[in-house]
Amino acid sequence: MQRCIICEEPKMEGVRLHKSFICKSCEYNMVHTDVREVKYRYYVEKLKSLDGPSLRTS
Ligand SMILES: [Zn+2]
Repeated sequence: MQRCIICEEPKMEGVRLHKSFICKSCEYNMVHTDVREVKYRYYVEKLKSLDGPSLRTS
């Protein structure tokens, strides 16, 4: 089983995205979420955080 990065629950079925795992239900929700919804931003932020700490140079 793999831990879903959205709901953070171990799931059997899902898709692999980069090095991460998203369960079927979260994938479905994401696909069916309107980009104007707050929830969509939440998903995007989750996915962005996967790339690790951003290398910001000041
Ligand atoms: Zn999930």
